[in-house]
Amino acid sequence: MEEFYTIQGEGYHTGTAAYFIRIGGCDVGCHWCDVKESWNANLHPPTLTSTIVENTKKYAKIAVITGGEPLMWDMSRITTLLQSQQIKTHIETSGAYKLTGEWDWICLSPKKMKLPNEEVHKNADELKMIVFNKSDFKFAEEQAAKVNLNCELFLQAEWSNRSKMTPLIVAYVLKNPKWKISIQTHKYLNIP
Ligand code: SF4
Repeated sequence: MEEFYTIQGEGYHTGTAAYFIRIGGCDVGCHWCDVKESWNANLHPPTLTSTIVENTKKYAKIAVITGGEPLMWDMSRITTLLQSQQIKTHIETSGAYKLTGEWDWICLSPKKMKLPNEEVHKNADELKMIVFNKSDFKFAEEQAAKVNLNCELFLQAEWSNRSKMTPLIVAYVLKNPKWKISIQTHKYLNIP
């Protein structure tokens, strides 16, 4: 769908420069999704994998593959090619589809409408739970029980509801310090 060089705004790698590769197509259907234009893959003509890798090489040593839902597609070729150029491969995924590709970092952000599969749970380096309402704390704990012990745990307020949910997240993390807070810093910095 698009590619751009920017700063990772959220989660474990916040503040790190990276080349973002946004893959078209998602059928998860989050009502608060901020990239709804990504949902219909047919609106985004394919780009050659080799072109994307060449573009990445010009800018960064980290590629963040996001969407949409990247795992709707086989990620093997693009991740192998990126790694062959010493570029680290990071993914942002709902985990709803089969895990393909070679990953240096897997950021799993589960959604209630289409739950992650076991393989993504097991391999996630980072669990990033979006908190839109109070029931999401329970969902976050259910998901945290399924990831491996080394997985980094983050709670992130859904952007449109952040003024209401942020104080609750702060209180929750103070009580449950296995969690950390993720903030969408790119939205404050006004960068993509
Ligand atoms: S999984 Fe991501 S891209 Fe898909 S609808 Fe949800 S927030 Fe949007």
